[in-house]
Amino acid sequence: MKKIIVIGSGFSSLSAACYLAKAGFKVTMLEKNTTVGGRARQLVKQGFTFDIGPSWYWMPDIFEKFFADFGKKTSDFYSLEKLDPAYKIFFKDDILTIRDTLDKICDEFERIEAGSSTYLRAFISKAQENYDIAINKIVLKPGLSPLELVTKETVLRVDQFFKSISQEVRKKFKNPKLISTLEFPVLFLGAKPNKTPSFYSFMNYADFGLGTWHPKGGMYEIIKAMKSLALELGVTIITNSPVEKIEVENGKVSGVIAKGKSFATDIVISGADYHHSETLLDKPYRQYSEAYWNKKTYAPSSLLFYVGFSKKLKNVEHHNLFFDTNFDVHSSEIYDHPQWPTDPLFYANFPSVTDKSMAPEGCETGFFLIPIAPGLEDTPELRKQYFDIIINRFEQRTGQTVLNAILFTESFCVNDFVEEYNSFKGNAYGMANTLAQTAFLRPSLKSKKVENLYFTGQLTVPGPGVPPSLISGKLVAELTIKKNLQNENHI
Ligand SMILES: Cc1cc2nc3c(=O)[nH]c(=O)nc-3n(C[C@H](O)[C@H](O)[C@H](O)COP(=O)(O)OP(=O)(O)OC[C@H]3O[C@@H](n4cnc5c(N)ncnc54)[C@H](O)[C@@H]3O)c2cc1C
Repeated sequence: MKKIIVIGSGFSSLSAACYLAKAGFKVTMLEKNTTVGGRARQLVKQGFTFDIGPSWYWMPDIFEKFFADFGKKTSDFYSLEKLDPAYKIFFKDDILTIRDTLDKICDEFERIEAGSSTYLRAFISKAQENYDIAINKIVLKPGLSPLELVTKETVLRVDQFFKSISQEVRKKFKNPKLISTLEFPVLFLGAKPNKTPSFYSFMNYADFGLGTWHPKGGMYEIIKAMKSLALELGVTIITNSPVEKIEVENGKVSGVIAKGKSFATDIVISGADYHHSETLLDKPYRQYSEAYWNKKTYAPSSLLFYVGFSKKLKNVEHHNLFFDTNFDVHSSEIYDHPQWPTDPLFYANFPSVTDKSMAPEGCETGFFLIPIAPGLEDTPELRKQYFDIIINRFEQRTGQTVLNAILFTESFCVNDFVEEYNSFKGNAYGMANTLAQTAFLRPSLKSKKVENLYFTGQLTVPGPGVPPSLISGKLVAELTIKKNLQNENHI
């Protein structure tokens, strides 16, 4: 039985480990931190439960497909609720509420711009076609060749790869609030909407077509489910075990050293940040130079606050976007001229609004996120300054005082992303999905220099986000299985 070491225990590593264990490999997972889950870990404090990272459960079909590959259903592990409202967007002079069906969302669009619902239906119908093509024809390819992108369907839509989502949205929608609403979903891909191909409108179908879901107990329930599946399949999980070196003999991976202990292995799959994973190799075995990494476009980092409130908050939903400042200025401060934002947009999540299990009785669990450029200076003073800015705006927009109801505040920012996850420049969501960083143009799943060394996760194929990370784990497992168990069809 061939041995595989999987580095890291984020979604991509857990996914790869499950597929490989099912295929008959002896899989050992080595995680640096004391708990599994990577960026999706959980913080529990004074009876409040926080998802440290992801909070939006989109594309439920991808989660179902993952568990179905093991003869399971999500409901075997956690219960899902479709949120209504899905989310609320606060603008300076209005609040948009996105409900749980396209009909209800059309009503809201009509309220803002008469006639816009006709365009919206046509836009979402095209977005749905793109979703079907993206999910069934594109993202399941390992990104080894440009030809993977050439299908009958993509050739017919080639214009959509060279036009941005911003251009597409602005063709039909004139109201800036509707434009921001329709540009929001591609932010999950990590780049500016004017740098994201319009083909990625499939994210709008994920939003308005498939809806926003919540696993009872929080996103960490998915990690718990995957961990229990991995254990059931025979994966050995070792936490508190940072890998310090990947060893190579005769051009082939031979082992890893973690916390001074050697692990001999036939294959290594690293789900740790790609740049960091390469630094675990001696220089001649690294595929990409520092210059390569430095010129890539990264998805933002984030300044995050986890706040325990001693009362229930008013006028908020489970997910809330504060788009009450200038988006163009903020995004230019993330991508074009990296600096702390002058007037940041932010996101606030209160899972206890719909899920009582997330906070003590009569209290609210609050998570605030400000997207920022990776690599910024991160100090306690800056964190405090931005906390004051957003809490002040939050109070104004929601019409209540909350400062006097704060039991505790924890924060997480660039330095923590580096410290906790070995993240390049403290990126939160990996490498952006721009046209020049799509599919075969992303860092490769398979090492070109070391045999039996593979990579997975949000810096490789297909890209950032929980569903893509699940797919990334599957893709890398398929490559490994193809190379090592050629005559068997395991997945
Ligand atoms: C704040 C935030 C909000 C987000 N919101 C959403 C959302 O709402 N919806 C969504 O779909 N996605 C969201 N994302 C993105 C999503 O969480 C990520 O794309 C996904 O979790 C990445 O998984 P991964 O396996 O690639 O990496 P990670 O989760 O980073 O896993 C990598 C693992 O490797 C470990 N590691 C690093 N170095 C070593 C080493 N030397 N030895 C051993 N282990 C090591 C790390 O500790 C970590 O556990 C969010 C991310 C963040 C940070």
